Amino acid sequence: MSTNAKMAGSDKAGKSAHPSFAPWQSENGELLIGKVPVRQLAARLGQTPFYAYDREKITRRIKELRAALPSSVRLHYAIKANPMPAIVGHLRDLVDGFDVASADEFDVALDSGMSADNIGFAGPGKSDTELARAIAGGALVELESPNEMERTARIGDDLGVTPRVAVRVNPDFKLRGSGMHMGGGPSQFGIDAEHVPAVLRQLGDLSLDFHGFHIFGGSQNLNADAIATAEDQIADLAIRLADDAPRPVRYLNIGGGFGIPYFPKDTPFDLAHVGARLHDTVARLADALPKAAVIIELGRYIVGEAGVYVCRVIDRKQSRDQTYLVTDGGLHHHLSATGNFGQGIRRNYPVAIATRFGMEEEETVNVVGCLCTPIDLLADKIAVPAAEVGDLVAIFQSGAYGKSASPEGFLSHPGVKEALV
Ligand SMILES: *Cc1c(COP(=O)(O)O)cnc(C)c1O
Repeated sequence: MSTNAKMAGSDKAGKSAHPSFAPWQSENGELLIGKVPVRQLAARLGQTPFYAYDREKITRRIKELRAALPSSVRLHYAIKANPMPAIVGHLRDLVDGFDVASADEFDVALDSGMSADNIGFAGPGKSDTELARAIAGGALVELESPNEMERTARIGDDLGVTPRVAVRVNPDFKLRGSGMHMGGGPSQFGIDAEHVPAVLRQLGDLSLDFHGFHIFGGSQNLNADAIATAEDQIADLAIRLADDAPRPVRYLNIGGGFGIPYFPKDTPFDLAHVGARLHDTVARLADALPKAAVIIELGRYIVGEAGVYVCRVIDRKQSRDQTYLVTDGGLHHHLSATGNFGQGIRRNYPVAIATRFGMEEEETVNVVGCLCTPIDLLADKIAVPAAEVGDLVAIFQSGAYGKSASPEGFLSHPGVKEALV
Protein backbone atom coordinates (compact mmCIF):
# COMPACT_ATOMS: atom_id res chain seq x y z
CA MET A 1 0.00 0.00 0.00
CA SER A 2 1.33 3.42 -0.93
CA THR A 3 1.00 6.20 1.58
CA ASN A 4 1.68 9.84 1.31
CA ALA A 5 4.44 10.65 3.77
CA LYS A 6 2.75 13.73 5.12
CA MET A 7 -0.48 11.91 5.72
CA ALA A 8 1.27 8.97 7.34
CA GLY A 9 3.33 11.42 9.37
CA SER A 10 0.28 13.30 10.56
CA ASP A 11 -0.82 10.06 12.20
CA LYS A 12 1.20 10.38 15.37
CA ALA A 13 4.49 12.16 15.37
CA GLY A 14 3.92 13.97 12.11
CA LYS A 15 3.82 17.45 13.58
CA SER A 16 7.33 18.17 12.34
CA ALA A 17 7.28 16.23 9.07
CA HIS A 18 9.21 18.44 6.67
CA PRO A 19 7.10 20.04 3.90
CA SER A 20 9.60 18.73 1.34
CA PHE A 21 8.66 15.13 2.25
CA ALA A 22 5.06 15.61 1.14
CA PRO A 23 5.45 14.91 -2.59
CA TRP A 24 7.30 11.63 -1.93
CA GLN A 25 5.55 8.29 -1.66
CA SER A 26 6.46 5.31 0.48
CA GLU A 27 5.53 1.66 0.62
CA ASN A 28 5.70 -0.29 3.88
CA GLY A 29 7.81 2.49 5.36
CA GLU A 30 10.24 2.52 2.46
CA LEU A 31 10.79 5.61 0.36
CA LEU A 32 9.93 5.14 -3.32
CA ILE A 33 12.05 6.93 -5.92
CA GLY A 34 10.61 6.68 -9.42
CA LYS A 35 8.31 4.01 -7.95
CA VAL A 36 11.29 1.85 -6.88
CA PRO A 37 11.74 1.06 -3.17
CA VAL A 38 14.97 2.62 -1.95
CA ARG A 39 16.56 -0.66 -0.76
CA GLN A 40 15.94 -2.24 -4.12
CA LEU A 41 17.50 0.78 -5.80
CA ALA A 42 20.56 0.50 -3.55
CA ALA A 43 20.85 -3.19 -4.46
CA ARG A 44 20.53 -2.42 -8.15
CA LEU A 45 23.24 0.21 -7.99
CA GLY A 46 25.45 -2.08 -5.93
CA GLN A 47 26.46 0.63 -3.50
CA THR A 48 25.57 3.47 -1.28
CA PRO A 49 25.86 6.42 -1.38
CA PHE A 50 24.06 7.41 -4.54
CA TYR A 51 21.98 10.18 -6.03
CA ALA A 52 18.66 9.16 -7.53
CA TYR A 53 16.69 11.50 -9.75
CA ASP A 54 13.00 11.01 -10.40
CA ARG A 55 12.46 11.39 -14.15
CA GLU A 56 8.74 11.99 -13.77
CA LYS A 57 9.26 14.87 -11.35
CA ILE A 58 11.55 16.61 -13.84
CA THR A 59 9.00 16.17 -16.62
CA ARG A 60 6.23 17.50 -14.40
CA ARG A 61 8.26 20.56 -13.46
CA ILE A 62 8.75 21.45 -17.11
CA LYS A 63 4.99 21.09 -17.68
CA GLU A 64 4.32 23.47 -14.79
CA LEU A 65 6.75 25.99 -16.26
CA ARG A 66 5.20 25.72 -19.71
CA ALA A 67 1.74 26.23 -18.25
CA ALA A 68 2.75 29.32 -16.26
CA LEU A 69 5.11 31.14 -18.62
CA PRO A 70 3.99 32.96 -21.77
CA SER A 71 4.11 30.52 -24.68
CA SER A 72 6.55 32.70 -26.61
CA VAL A 73 9.18 32.44 -23.85
CA ARG A 74 11.89 29.91 -24.61
CA LEU A 75 12.99 27.74 -21.73
CA HIS A 76 16.65 26.82 -21.33
CA TYR A 77 18.25 24.39 -18.89
CA ALA A 78 21.48 25.58 -17.24
CA ILE A 79 23.58 22.41 -17.28
CA LYS A 80 25.75 23.63 -14.42
CA ALA A 81 22.98 22.65 -11.96
CA ASN A 82 23.29 18.97 -12.88
CA PRO A 83 25.34 17.85 -15.85
CA MET A 84 24.50 14.12 -15.64
CA PRO A 85 24.25 13.08 -19.32
CA ALA A 86 21.06 11.08 -18.74
CA ILE A 87 19.36 14.16 -17.28
CA VAL A 88 20.59 16.39 -20.07
CA GLY A 89 19.36 13.75 -22.54
CA HIS A 90 15.98 13.59 -20.86
CA LEU A 91 15.66 17.38 -21.01
CA ARG A 92 16.75 17.57 -24.64
CA ASP A 93 13.18 17.11 -25.88
CA LEU A 94 11.54 19.03 -23.04
CA VAL A 95 13.33 22.40 -23.18
CA ASP A 96 14.19 24.76 -26.04
CA GLY A 97 17.89 25.04 -25.38
CA PHE A 98 20.79 24.59 -23.00
CA ASP A 99 23.10 27.05 -21.29
CA VAL A 100 26.62 25.84 -20.71
CA ALA A 101 29.44 27.37 -18.75
CA SER A 102 32.43 25.33 -19.95
CA ALA A 103 33.55 23.63 -23.15
CA ASP A 104 33.04 20.20 -21.57
CA GLU A 105 29.46 21.12 -20.67
CA PHE A 106 29.07 22.15 -24.30
CA ASP A 107 30.16 18.62 -25.30
CA VAL A 108 27.52 17.12 -22.98
CA ALA A 109 24.91 19.44 -24.51
CA LEU A 110 25.85 18.48 -28.08
CA ASP A 111 26.04 14.76 -27.23
CA SER A 112 22.40 14.95 -26.13
CA GLY A 113 21.45 15.87 -29.69
CA MET A 114 20.53 19.48 -28.94
CA SER A 115 21.33 21.76 -31.87
CA ALA A 116 24.19 24.20 -31.26
CA ASP A 117 21.82 26.91 -32.52
CA ASN A 118 20.06 26.56 -29.16
CA ILE A 119 23.11 26.48 -26.90
CA GLY A 120 24.52 29.55 -25.15
CA PHE A 121 27.99 29.55 -23.61
CA ALA A 122 28.43 31.96 -20.67
CA GLY A 123 31.07 32.22 -17.98
CA PRO A 124 34.13 34.31 -17.20
CA GLY A 125 37.64 33.17 -18.04
CA LYS A 126 36.98 31.30 -21.26
CA SER A 127 40.38 30.22 -22.55
CA ASP A 128 41.32 30.47 -26.24
CA THR A 129 40.91 26.69 -26.47
CA GLU A 130 37.43 26.86 -24.99
CA LEU A 131 36.47 29.72 -27.29
CA ALA A 132 37.72 27.78 -30.30
CA ARG A 133 35.70 24.74 -29.24
CA ALA A 134 32.59 26.88 -28.75
CA ILE A 135 33.00 28.71 -32.07
CA ALA A 136 33.82 25.57 -34.07
CA GLY A 137 30.81 23.86 -32.53
CA GLY A 138 28.50 26.77 -33.29
CA ALA A 139 27.55 27.83 -29.76
CA LEU A 140 26.33 31.34 -29.04
CA VAL A 141 29.27 32.88 -27.19
CA GLU A 142 28.11 35.16 -24.40
CA LEU A 143 30.85 37.77 -24.18
CA GLU A 144 31.94 38.55 -20.65
CA SER A 145 34.50 41.30 -21.39
CA PRO A 146 35.96 43.46 -24.17
CA ASN A 147 39.06 41.25 -24.14
CA GLU A 148 36.95 38.15 -24.66
CA MET A 149 35.17 39.89 -27.53
CA GLU A 150 38.46 40.62 -29.32
CA ARG A 151 39.76 37.08 -28.77
CA THR A 152 36.48 35.64 -30.04
CA ALA A 153 36.73 37.68 -33.25
CA ARG A 154 40.38 36.68 -33.77
CA ILE A 155 39.72 32.98 -33.16
CA GLY A 156 36.74 33.13 -35.51
CA ASP A 157 39.01 34.61 -38.21
CA ASP A 158 41.54 31.80 -37.66
CA LEU A 159 38.78 29.20 -38.00
CA GLY A 160 37.11 30.93 -40.94
CA VAL A 161 33.86 31.12 -39.01
CA THR A 162 31.87 34.19 -37.96
CA PRO A 163 31.15 33.54 -34.27
CA ARG A 164 27.60 33.95 -33.04
CA VAL A 165 27.76 36.23 -30.01
CA ALA A 166 25.67 37.92 -27.36
CA VAL A 167 26.84 40.47 -24.83
CA ARG A 168 26.53 39.47 -21.21
CA VAL A 169 25.52 42.60 -19.30
CA ASN A 170 26.23 43.33 -15.65
CA PRO A 171 23.05 45.24 -14.86
CA ASP A 172 22.99 48.56 -13.05
CA PHE A 173 20.44 47.29 -10.53
CA LYS A 174 20.44 44.52 -7.96
CA LEU A 175 18.05 41.59 -7.68
CA ARG A 176 16.32 41.59 -4.29
CA GLY A 177 16.22 38.40 -2.24
CA SER A 178 18.76 36.38 -4.16
CA GLY A 179 20.89 33.73 -2.48
CA MET A 180 23.81 34.44 -4.79
CA HIS A 181 24.13 37.87 -6.40
CA MET A 182 25.56 38.07 -9.87
CA GLY A 183 24.83 41.70 -10.70
CA GLY A 184 24.30 45.18 -9.39
CA GLY A 185 27.73 46.05 -8.08
CA PRO A 186 31.17 45.30 -9.40
CA SER A 187 31.26 41.80 -10.83
CA GLN A 188 33.42 39.33 -12.73
CA PHE A 189 30.32 38.51 -14.78
CA GLY A 190 29.44 40.43 -17.88
CA ILE A 191 30.18 43.96 -19.02
CA ASP A 192 28.93 46.85 -16.90
CA ALA A 193 25.74 48.24 -18.43
CA GLU A 194 27.22 51.72 -18.71
CA HIS A 195 30.10 50.42 -20.87
CA VAL A 196 27.96 48.30 -23.16
CA PRO A 197 27.17 51.05 -25.73
CA ALA A 198 30.88 51.60 -26.44
CA VAL A 199 31.50 47.86 -26.61
CA LEU A 200 28.61 47.43 -29.05
CA ARG A 201 30.05 50.07 -31.40
CA GLN A 202 33.38 48.22 -31.32
CA LEU A 203 31.59 44.91 -31.88
CA GLY A 204 30.03 46.26 -35.07
CA ASP A 205 33.50 46.67 -36.61
CA LEU A 206 34.56 43.08 -35.87
CA SER A 207 33.49 40.01 -37.77
CA LEU A 208 31.06 38.84 -35.14
CA ASP A 209 27.43 37.86 -35.66
CA PHE A 210 25.62 39.85 -32.97
CA HIS A 211 22.48 38.19 -31.60
CA GLY A 212 21.61 40.07 -28.44
CA PHE A 213 21.98 40.21 -24.69
CA HIS A 214 22.26 37.96 -21.68
CA ILE A 215 21.34 39.59 -18.38
CA PHE A 216 21.34 37.34 -15.31
CA GLY A 217 20.64 38.77 -11.88
CA GLY A 218 21.20 35.96 -9.37
CA SER A 219 20.34 32.51 -8.12
CA GLN A 220 18.12 30.71 -5.56
CA ASN A 221 15.53 33.46 -5.21
CA LEU A 222 12.19 32.60 -3.58
CA ASN A 223 10.80 36.12 -3.93
CA ALA A 224 8.67 35.91 -7.06
CA ASP A 225 7.85 39.59 -6.97
CA ALA A 226 11.53 40.52 -6.90
CA ILE A 227 12.17 38.23 -9.86
CA ALA A 228 9.28 39.70 -11.83
CA THR A 229 10.53 43.23 -11.11
CA ALA A 230 14.04 42.27 -12.19
CA GLU A 231 12.68 40.78 -15.43
CA ASP A 232 10.92 44.06 -16.07
CA GLN A 233 14.07 46.06 -15.40
CA ILE A 234 16.07 43.70 -17.60
CA ALA A 235 13.61 44.33 -20.42
CA ASP A 236 14.02 48.10 -19.98
CA LEU A 237 17.78 47.79 -19.98
CA ALA A 238 17.80 45.62 -23.11
CA ILE A 239 15.50 48.02 -24.94
CA ARG A 240 17.80 50.89 -24.01
CA LEU A 241 21.00 49.05 -25.01
CA ALA A 242 19.49 47.92 -28.33
CA ASP A 243 19.82 51.53 -29.61
CA ASP A 244 23.57 51.02 -29.91
CA ALA A 245 23.46 47.46 -31.25
CA PRO A 246 24.92 46.79 -34.72
CA ARG A 247 21.85 44.70 -35.67
CA PRO A 248 18.34 44.14 -34.37
CA VAL A 249 18.28 42.07 -31.19
CA ARG A 250 17.32 38.46 -31.94
CA TYR A 251 18.23 36.93 -28.58
CA LEU A 252 17.41 38.17 -25.10
CA ASN A 253 18.27 35.90 -22.20
CA ILE A 254 16.63 37.46 -19.16
CA GLY A 255 18.13 34.99 -16.67
CA GLY A 256 16.19 32.92 -14.19
CA GLY A 257 17.11 32.42 -10.58
CA PHE A 258 13.82 30.76 -9.50
CA GLY A 259 14.55 29.16 -6.12
CA ILE A 260 13.35 26.01 -4.38
CA PRO A 261 12.49 25.68 -0.69
CA TYR A 262 15.11 23.91 1.42
CA PHE A 263 14.12 24.89 4.94
CA PRO A 264 10.77 24.59 6.74
CA LYS A 265 10.20 28.34 6.77
CA ASP A 266 10.96 28.76 3.07
CA THR A 267 7.87 29.62 1.03
CA PRO A 268 7.73 27.81 -2.31
CA PHE A 269 8.36 30.03 -5.32
CA ASP A 270 5.18 31.63 -6.69
CA LEU A 271 5.53 30.59 -10.32
CA ALA A 272 2.03 31.76 -11.25
CA HIS A 273 2.86 35.30 -10.13
CA VAL A 274 6.03 35.47 -12.19
CA GLY A 275 4.22 33.98 -15.17
CA ALA A 276 1.41 36.53 -14.94
CA ARG A 277 3.72 39.52 -14.73
CA LEU A 278 5.96 38.17 -17.44
CA HIS A 279 3.08 38.36 -19.92
CA ASP A 280 3.22 42.16 -19.70
CA THR A 281 6.99 42.26 -19.94
CA VAL A 282 6.97 40.01 -22.98
CA ALA A 283 4.27 42.09 -24.68
CA ARG A 284 6.38 45.21 -24.15
CA LEU A 285 9.43 43.47 -25.60
CA ALA A 286 7.47 42.23 -28.62
CA ASP A 287 6.71 45.87 -29.36
CA ALA A 288 10.16 47.30 -28.79
CA LEU A 289 12.33 44.39 -29.97
CA PRO A 290 10.06 42.46 -32.34
CA LYS A 291 12.77 40.08 -33.56
CA ALA A 292 13.98 39.08 -30.09
CA ALA A 293 13.44 35.55 -28.77
CA VAL A 294 13.04 35.84 -24.99
CA ILE A 295 14.83 33.16 -23.00
CA ILE A 296 14.53 32.10 -19.38
CA GLU A 297 17.33 29.92 -18.12
CA LEU A 298 16.85 27.69 -15.11
CA GLY A 299 18.95 25.05 -13.42
CA ARG A 300 18.03 24.39 -9.82
CA TYR A 301 14.29 24.95 -10.33
CA ILE A 302 14.13 22.24 -13.00
CA VAL A 303 16.10 19.46 -11.30
CA GLY A 304 16.58 20.41 -7.64
CA GLU A 305 13.43 18.93 -6.18
CA ALA A 306 13.64 15.73 -8.25
CA GLY A 307 16.83 14.44 -6.63
CA VAL A 308 17.55 12.49 -3.45
CA TYR A 309 20.95 11.66 -1.99
CA VAL A 310 20.95 8.30 -0.23
CA CYS A 311 23.58 7.02 2.19
CA ARG A 312 23.72 4.22 4.72
CA VAL A 313 24.07 4.25 8.50
CA ILE A 314 27.44 2.66 9.29
CA ASP A 315 27.59 3.39 12.99
CA ARG A 316 25.36 4.65 15.72
CA LYS A 317 26.98 6.19 18.71
CA GLN A 318 26.27 8.17 21.79
CA SER A 319 28.47 11.06 22.85
CA ARG A 320 27.56 12.73 26.10
CA ASP A 321 23.93 13.74 25.63
CA GLN A 322 23.77 13.34 21.87
CA THR A 323 23.19 10.53 19.40
CA TYR A 324 25.12 10.35 16.14
CA LEU A 325 24.16 8.41 13.06
CA VAL A 326 27.42 8.00 11.16
CA THR A 327 26.90 7.35 7.46
CA ASP A 328 28.99 6.34 4.47
CA GLY A 329 28.04 9.67 2.82
CA GLY A 330 29.26 13.18 3.39
CA LEU A 331 30.28 16.53 2.06
CA HIS A 332 32.64 14.97 -0.49
CA HIS A 333 29.45 13.96 -2.37
CA HIS A 334 27.04 16.61 -1.16
CA LEU A 335 28.74 19.79 -0.10
CA SER A 336 25.53 21.85 -0.32
CA ALA A 337 23.70 19.72 2.25
CA THR A 338 26.37 20.50 4.83
CA GLY A 339 25.87 24.23 4.28
CA ASN A 340 29.29 24.76 2.78
CA PHE A 341 28.27 25.75 -0.78
CA GLY A 342 27.19 29.37 -0.94
CA GLN A 343 24.95 29.41 2.15
CA GLY A 344 25.40 32.15 4.72
CA ILE A 345 24.38 30.11 7.72
CA ARG A 346 24.23 26.32 8.05
CA ARG A 347 20.70 24.94 8.14
CA ASN A 348 19.47 21.38 7.70
CA TYR A 349 18.37 20.17 4.32
CA PRO A 350 15.28 17.95 4.57
CA VAL A 351 16.69 14.66 5.88
CA ALA A 352 14.73 11.46 6.65
CA ILE A 353 15.34 7.80 7.39
CA ALA A 354 14.41 6.40 3.97
CA THR A 355 13.81 2.89 5.32
CA ARG A 356 11.42 4.16 8.01
CA PHE A 357 9.78 6.86 5.95
CA GLY A 358 6.74 8.54 7.46
CA MET A 359 7.04 6.52 10.67
CA GLU A 360 6.76 7.97 14.10
CA GLU A 361 9.62 10.19 15.24
CA GLU A 362 11.20 8.76 18.36
CA GLU A 363 14.53 10.44 18.91
CA THR A 364 16.72 13.39 18.08
CA VAL A 365 19.97 12.67 16.27
CA ASN A 366 22.83 14.24 14.39
CA VAL A 367 23.54 12.71 10.99
CA VAL A 368 27.18 12.94 9.99
CA GLY A 369 29.30 11.76 7.09
CA CYS A 370 32.43 9.63 7.15
CA LEU A 371 34.95 12.40 6.64
CA CYS A 372 37.40 13.25 9.39
CA THR A 373 36.31 16.90 9.69
CA PRO A 374 33.67 18.48 11.95
CA ILE A 375 32.07 20.34 9.02
CA ASP A 376 30.86 16.99 7.64
CA LEU A 377 27.46 17.44 9.29
CA LEU A 378 24.45 16.35 7.21
CA ALA A 379 21.74 17.02 9.80
CA ASP A 380 21.93 18.81 13.10
CA LYS A 381 19.53 17.58 15.83
CA ILE A 382 16.66 16.28 13.74
CA ALA A 383 13.73 14.19 14.95
CA VAL A 384 13.61 10.75 13.33
CA PRO A 385 12.25 7.24 13.89
CA ALA A 386 14.87 5.19 15.77
CA ALA A 387 17.40 4.16 13.12
CA GLU A 388 19.91 1.34 13.21
CA VAL A 389 23.07 0.43 11.43
CA GLY A 390 22.07 -0.57 7.89
CA ASP A 391 19.18 1.86 7.62
CA LEU A 392 19.25 4.24 4.65
CA VAL A 393 19.20 8.02 5.03
CA ALA A 394 17.65 10.26 2.37
CA ILE A 395 18.52 13.90 1.81
CA PHE A 396 15.86 15.58 -0.31
CA GLN A 397 16.06 18.67 -2.58
CA SER A 398 19.35 17.25 -3.84
CA GLY A 399 18.93 17.26 -7.60
CA ALA A 400 20.96 20.43 -8.18
CA TYR A 401 24.49 21.39 -7.15
CA GLY A 402 25.14 17.93 -5.71
CA LYS A 403 27.79 15.59 -7.08
CA SER A 404 29.35 18.03 -9.53
CA ALA A 405 29.47 20.79 -6.90
CA SER A 406 31.26 18.65 -4.31
CA PRO A 407 34.94 17.94 -3.62
CA GLU A 408 34.85 14.21 -4.40
CA GLY A 409 38.60 13.81 -3.99
CA PHE A 410 38.67 15.20 -0.47
CA LEU A 411 39.81 12.47 1.94
CA SER A 412 40.01 9.84 -0.82
CA HIS A 413 36.81 7.97 -0.04
CA PRO A 414 34.91 6.21 -2.85
CA GLY A 415 32.85 8.36 -5.21
CA VAL A 416 29.09 8.58 -5.50
CA LYS A 417 26.87 6.97 -8.14
CA GLU A 418 23.92 8.55 -9.91
CA ALA A 419 20.76 7.12 -11.42
CA LEU A 420 17.87 8.64 -13.32
CA VAL A 421 14.90 6.53 -12.30
C1 LIG B 1 24.35 29.35 -12.42
C2 LIG B 1 23.69 30.02 -13.53
C3 LIG B 1 22.38 29.66 -13.88
C4 LIG B 1 21.58 28.64 -13.14
O1 LIG B 1 21.16 29.11 -11.92
P1 LIG B 1 20.07 28.30 -11.08
O2 LIG B 1 19.96 29.01 -9.80
O3 LIG B 1 20.57 26.89 -10.94
O4 LIG B 1 18.80 28.32 -11.87
C5 LIG B 1 21.81 30.29 -14.95
N1 LIG B 1 22.50 31.22 -15.65
C6 LIG B 1 23.75 31.59 -15.35
C7 LIG B 1 24.43 32.61 -16.16
C8 LIG B 1 24.39 31.01 -14.28
O5 LIG B 1 25.62 31.39 -13.97
